[in-house]
Amino acid sequence: MKVERITLTHVRIPLVKPFRNSNGEVSEKDGILVRVDAGGLAGTGEASPMSGSFYFDDTPASVWKFLTERLIPAAFAAKVDSVASVNRVLERTGGSPFARAGLETAFWDLEARAAGKPLYELLGGYNVPVESGLAVGITTGIPALIGTIEKYLAEGYKRVKIKIQPGWDVGPLGEIRQRFGDIPLMVDANGAYAREDIPHLCSLDAFGLVMIEQPFPGNDLRGHADLQMKIRTPVCLDEGAEDVAAVRRAIRMKSCRLVNIKIQRVGGLANAIAVHDLCASVGMSVWAGTMPELGIGGAQTLHLATLPNFSYPTDVESSARWFIDDVIEPLITVREGMISIPAGTGNCYEPAEAAIGRFRIAERVFKP
Ligand SMILES: [Mg+2]
Repeated sequence: MKVERITLTHVRIPLVKPFRNSNGEVSEKDGILVRVDAGGLAGTGEASPMSGSFYFDDTPASVWKFLTERLIPAAFAAKVDSVASVNRVLERTGGSPFARAGLETAFWDLEARAAGKPLYELLGGYNVPVESGLAVGITTGIPALIGTIEKYLAEGYKRVKIKIQPGWDVGPLGEIRQRFGDIPLMVDANGAYAREDIPHLCSLDAFGLVMIEQPFPGNDLRGHADLQMKIRTPVCLDEGAEDVAAVRRAIRMKSCRLVNIKIQRVGGLANAIAVHDLCASVGMSVWAGTMPELGIGGAQTLHLATLPNFSYPTDVESSARWFIDDVIEPLITVREGMISIPAGTGNCYEPAEAAIGRFRIAERVFKP
């Protein structure tokens, strides 16, 4: 399968509403689509950094630069023609996990299409519907939070996750419990707390949360271990589970009981499977998080989430939950809290060329 062409398309799609977490606010979603053409087939991946280094240091501009100047030339130089060969190149180059995920996942789609199979089959997953959870950002007040949860819970989402930060935790949680009873509920702090907050965080046990995600900054595995020793609620790592080595350290230090796996954060599907397998080997459950990505990345997360050790609802939601439109057809749709991957090959969701054209802000074609 000789690669004839790689096309990068930077798209920017307005969000239905701005999203706020403990790091700041965004109102548009940037994604860099990576299309690999080979042998009459095309595979598509997505590199999906948030603008303004909202989650990690990578930005759309830095990811574009790394793909154009480093990864694509390295891939052509090595004559990559498969998932395995592109991963050998990516291991050597290292660097931006978002950029690596974009290129690597395009090859997974291509390889699955060439095999005439849906992506989940190549990943070791199954043809099963995926449970979807609702994620709600930090709102301007509790009534807005309650209103948002009420609106989307009607679509049947299987649990609610709210973003928290110091000063925005016990208040909203108390209101949610009072209003919605014992719905499956979890929190994500995106590293907004410090070790001094451990006694306060332990008070969140009273809310019977499914998990508390990333209370401390990413590299503070010791802090997370100290908290997990004292709190009944399972601690989940997201930013701190940046690669297989970090997860291995976290397991050894007992920093968490759960891991959120994001394809973008770990630099592609092969690494995501490696983290899944490592956690399964020690009896630790995982679940599939999102940036959130646009539809290509979202679709690939759904395929990943069909692997057996994904044990909690995914953060992948309906396309219409976040974006005014999406780059795939059909759109991702939650029905009674579940997402069914359509029949097909590869990603099973096809690139929506009209929408991609409408939201495109840059495009560049590379040939070997
Ligand atoms: Mg998170």
